[in-house]
Amino acid sequence: MNIPTTVIGSYPVRLDGVKYARAYFSGEKNDALSASIREAVSTQVNAGIDIVSDGQTKGDFINIFAKNFRGVAVKERPIVYSEIEYIRDSVVADQSYVKSFLPKNVKLKGIITGPYTMAKGSEDRHYGSLEKLSLAYARGLASEAEKLSKIVDYIQVDEPFFSVDYPDYGRELIEKVFANVDVPKMLHVCGDVSKIFPQLIEYKVDYLEHEFAANPSLWETVSQHSFKQRLGVGVVRSDLNKVESVEEIVGRMCKAFEVVGSEHIIFNPDCGLRNLDPEVAFGKLKNMVSARNRVCEQI
Ligand SMILES: [Zn+2]
Repeated sequence: MNIPTTVIGSYPVRLDGVKYARAYFSGEKNDALSASIREAVSTQVNAGIDIVSDGQTKGDFINIFAKNFRGVAVKERPIVYSEIEYIRDSVVADQSYVKSFLPKNVKLKGIITGPYTMAKGSEDRHYGSLEKLSLAYARGLASEAEKLSKIVDYIQVDEPFFSVDYPDYGRELIEKVFANVDVPKMLHVCGDVSKIFPQLIEYKVDYLEHEFAANPSLWETVSQHSFKQRLGVGVVRSDLNKVESVEEIVGRMCKAFEVVGSEHIIFNPDCGLRNLDPEVAFGKLKNMVSARNRVCEQI
């Protein structure tokens, strides 16, 4: 049997500042950005990952979407100054580019920053309500999701703020973004989701991806619930700049088998790997794939 491996999204490919400035002024900015995407994707493919991302190398995960809303000024953080409307795609063209060189046996995941996280990360000078602003973001992001679903094999929405300050309209937001999506839907929430896990399993999504390597106590909560989604099990830490051994990762995978069985899981890092040294990020992915290969031989 084979259990797929994936990433949560960001990869530590940094644009070389001098090269990028030169590319920017010579009008070859897009070539430099494309090169960073290609490097992030190729590295994941070389590590043996089954479902890759574009590496989210283009910058801040809130601003890359916020800048394409009319009514938002992107400063250090987005400032919402009037009613917002989504006027341009953010990551659709990048996914077409990835598909143009991705080996056919490797799948691609498109990633959207969730509407609640967008709203929490913005300065609201218009709506006066976090709920209204989140819903407005969700309407725009739904059009991005619909276009992405024509290109990618999976779509993931990231809502890190859910584990910090969960809104009771969270489900409505996520289902609005996914309304016209017909590929498998993934929701990633990092941090400790023990308290909100009972709510998340009510969502109409196909995968729930959480941080288990840094929060092994989450297994206690998971073991008390039955749910129909597949679980994305974080088996390497994204907050630790050190490669875990294959044995250590195998141990984490075995815990997942013990609690939920091998049928309904996939393996991933706890979160994005942006802040790690590139060789550490690659080492973690490679060891995660080796550990998966080892455990899959035995089941
Ligand atoms: Zn995360």
